[in-house]
Amino acid sequence: MATVNKLLDKINISGTVRTDEPMSRHTTFEVGGPADLYAVPETVSDIIALLSVAEEAGLSWFVLGGGANVLVSDRGIRGLVIDMRAFSRFGVEGDELVLGTGLAISDAAERAAELGLAGLEFLYSMPGSVGGAVWMNARCYGSSIDEVLESVLYVDETRQPRRYRVRREDFAYKRSPFQNRPVAMYEARFRMQPADPAELRERMREYYHDRQSKGHFSAPSVGSVFKNNRDFGAPTGKLLDGLGLRGYQVGKAKVSAQHANIVINTGGATAAEIRAVIEHMDQEARSQLGIQLEREVLYAGEW
Ligand SMILES: Cc1cc2nc3c(=O)[nH]c(=O)nc-3n(C[C@H](O)[C@H](O)[C@H](O)COP(=O)(O)OP(=O)(O)OC[C@H]3O[C@@H](n4cnc5c(N)ncnc54)[C@H](O)[C@@H]3O)c2cc1C
Repeated sequence: MATVNKLLDKINISGTVRTDEPMSRHTTFEVGGPADLYAVPETVSDIIALLSVAEEAGLSWFVLGGGANVLVSDRGIRGLVIDMRAFSRFGVEGDELVLGTGLAISDAAERAAELGLAGLEFLYSMPGSVGGAVWMNARCYGSSIDEVLESVLYVDETRQPRRYRVRREDFAYKRSPFQNRPVAMYEARFRMQPADPAELRERMREYYHDRQSKGHFSAPSVGSVFKNNRDFGAPTGKLLDGLGLRGYQVGKAKVSAQHANIVINTGGATAAEIRAVIEHMDQEARSQLGIQLEREVLYAGEW
């Protein structure tokens, strides 16, 4: 911690920097211990400055979007967390939408729909940021974000700003090329189509109600904890349901009663309890069905 406090003097950015920031404030599971150093950069130069300080000090770093797909340990994160929330640009250039990666993807979809621009409406009411949705290649209602993504601006491993132009072959089900690289994305462009705002509003209303009926908004979670796999013949939620896992509980962490692939924090759960539930689900799928599930939620921090 002494080192981290010394680093504070070295960091000169326009955005916020704090020490010991509880990650439970920044994750949809509402769990997670403190990050040694937590920064909210406001400019690309801020990101570069933060990465330089981290590199010089030998600190590891983690880019945070909406925290809707991470389980941060109770001990928290050693190193630097870069929260992209201040990159909130919403621009329209011709038929392209230009979005800061820190913008909530659902808000972006809603604002685009109001302007009669279709393409992102399937992500309406899904938690998380534009950057996180690109990183995860977020998918729902039969579409993935790579279908409309055109290009991404990011700071690369050598701290240079770069543009990536989408090649569809770089993406797959819940996979993006960014998963293999330590980079910070700050802007993304999407190809949109003209559409009737009222029709888009109606479609988004249906998605919202569908999520609501599945209990997505009734308790803190990260949505599905495991990915689907076509080879298993049924969605993972169905397979887990067949094992009677709904309601399985460790402490205050529990498999949702509405969806067997969702783990919820019933109030005051620890990250360790949530992880124990996830590991039990994994173990049951292996021992009872002979299948190896692929985890979708990411574990972060010191376990
Ligand atoms: C109720 C609920 C329902 C959900 N339903 C769905 C669903 O239908 N489909 C689906 O795909 N997901 C779903 N999710 C999961 C989650 O919403 C998505 O994975 C989302 O895209 C995560 O975005 P995020 O900004 O929260 O990313 P985070 O959880 O903050 O981060 C995820 C990963 O992306 C990286 N990352 C984030 N932003 C950047 C950036 N700017 N630059 C570099 N790396 C970055 C992080 O380092 C991390 O590795 C759901 C979650 C909840 C809580």
